[in-house]
Amino acid sequence: MSDFVEKLRAIVGDKGLITDEQGKHPYVTDWRESFVGNALAVVRPANTREVADVVRLCAAEKVSVVPQGGNTGLVGGGIPQEKGREIVLSLNRMTRITDIDPIGYTMTVEAGVILKTIQETAAAHDRLFPLSLAAEGSCSIGGNLSTNAGGVQVLHYGNARQLVLGLEVVTPQGEIWNGLRALKKDNTGYDLRDLYLGAEGTLGIITRAVLKLWPKPKDVATAWVAVPSPEAAVALLSGAHAASEDNVTSCELMGRQGIDLVLQHIPGATDPLSGRHDWYVLFEWSSTRARREGANAGGLREKMEAYLGEAMEQGLVLDATIAQNETQARALWALRENHTEASKKEGPSVKHDISVAVSKIPAFVTEGLAAMRKALPECRPVTFGHVGDGNLHFNCQAPAGWDKARFLPHAHAVNAAVYDLVVSYGGSISAEHGIGLLKVDELAHYRSKVEIDTMRTIKRALDPQNLMNPGKIVRV
Ligand SMILES: Cc1cc2nc3c(=O)[nH]c(=O)nc-3n(C[C@H](O)[C@H](O)[C@H](O)COP(=O)(O)OP(=O)(O)OC[C@H]3O[C@@H](n4cnc5c(N)ncnc54)[C@H](O)[C@@H]3O)c2cc1C
Repeated sequence: MSDFVEKLRAIVGDKGLITDEQGKHPYVTDWRESFVGNALAVVRPANTREVADVVRLCAAEKVSVVPQGGNTGLVGGGIPQEKGREIVLSLNRMTRITDIDPIGYTMTVEAGVILKTIQETAAAHDRLFPLSLAAEGSCSIGGNLSTNAGGVQVLHYGNARQLVLGLEVVTPQGEIWNGLRALKKDNTGYDLRDLYLGAEGTLGIITRAVLKLWPKPKDVATAWVAVPSPEAAVALLSGAHAASEDNVTSCELMGRQGIDLVLQHIPGATDPLSGRHDWYVLFEWSSTRARREGANAGGLREKMEAYLGEAMEQGLVLDATIAQNETQARALWALRENHTEASKKEGPSVKHDISVAVSKIPAFVTEGLAAMRKALPECRPVTFGHVGDGNLHFNCQAPAGWDKARFLPHAHAVNAAVYDLVVSYGGSISAEHGIGLLKVDELAHYRSKVEIDTMRTIKRALDPQNLMNPGKIVRV
């Protein structure tokens, strides 16, 4: 093994290699600390050529490669297995933005660039890169594309797959596919780009990408709205599309339990409304048309206020506040974005990143809460998420005072209750986080044989040695 490590060192140098246990620890442990694996080494190439050389060496030595970006994934996809002969290949030194083209609305980036840096670079050029999620300060674009990440603006701009034009990928054989085409139209055979997007590093390593940009919004209105039920939330969203002139960019639903966890665990968090309500919606409308200033001042905020006023008369809204400036808007967003962090601080939980058709959300929530409570009467459901995409984090927090050892034996029953229901609704058991290690068995159970067999056929064809992130998504 020391010979193999020295060969790695010859490719990436001392700066690109971590072999001591303490140094490897953060790379072999996931964000939730649910998965802890083992790696022969953590390898941090500086460019695509080094990635290709490392992968070729691993293919020759039959060592598996686990690509990793910011390691914020929630399904263990970027973590090596406990007993494998694996390296972690971290893209965190590949952080260059190699081209920005505001005229053509594109940006070309290396895979390790942090999402927030991409957003900020786009903004500095009066453009928008709309992918936005709570982990944006630490997740990387390579991880975002490999998980086909969703986030809080999917209902308007689409998920990661819709935000990319071209890719550069290192194949499991260590070859470089340069598909960095900034083309909106390109019907030249099978779409390789779409194959690698969302593949969670099982088919190759994304090393660079050409991203799409949008005009930067000039007018943004953000509201925190108490609603009587998920049904009211969905009706409120439905009417908002027309009322906002198709400018709804985010619509997030939260149950009170999650808000309570945020207020309890996140310093500085405060409840924006005086009363206690069971359900809340965080609304964001944004437009590229600037607000009118002066005597006739107006824009989205006024439109939103009028719409929420009407909705209140119809009983869809119980109370609401509209942010008057960016600081207030950020505080409202922090309440939503700190749900995952607050839940982690509270203790163990099982997470269900599910989706059903938007109009089916209310019925699903009612039935789902009942199913979860039937599976574990003491459970504390924490429901929040991207209701505008029909995607909820329909989570179950362990009963107060329960540790992992006491709680986890119940996880299977809770998962089965929720996922059986999701499938009966024609929904998905993984809307945006992917499959990773966490949901391999569930995927095999809930998807048809023909679907799983086709995935296996693709995997075997592209990675016949099964060296690229083995054991994730499907077992071959
Ligand atoms: C607080 C919090 C909030 C979150 N909110 C959301 C949300 O709203 N929406 C959402 O979709 N996700 C969310 N996530 C999950 C996570 O942030 C996303 O999955 C993100 O896209 C992962 O990016 P990463 O760089 O951290 O990837 P990693 O965790 O490093 O890797 C994720 C997967 O991609 C693979 N991979 C990474 N880089 C590459 C590459 N260059 N080439 C090939 N494969 C690669 C890995 O092997 C792994 O399978 C959240 C996570 C946290 C902690």
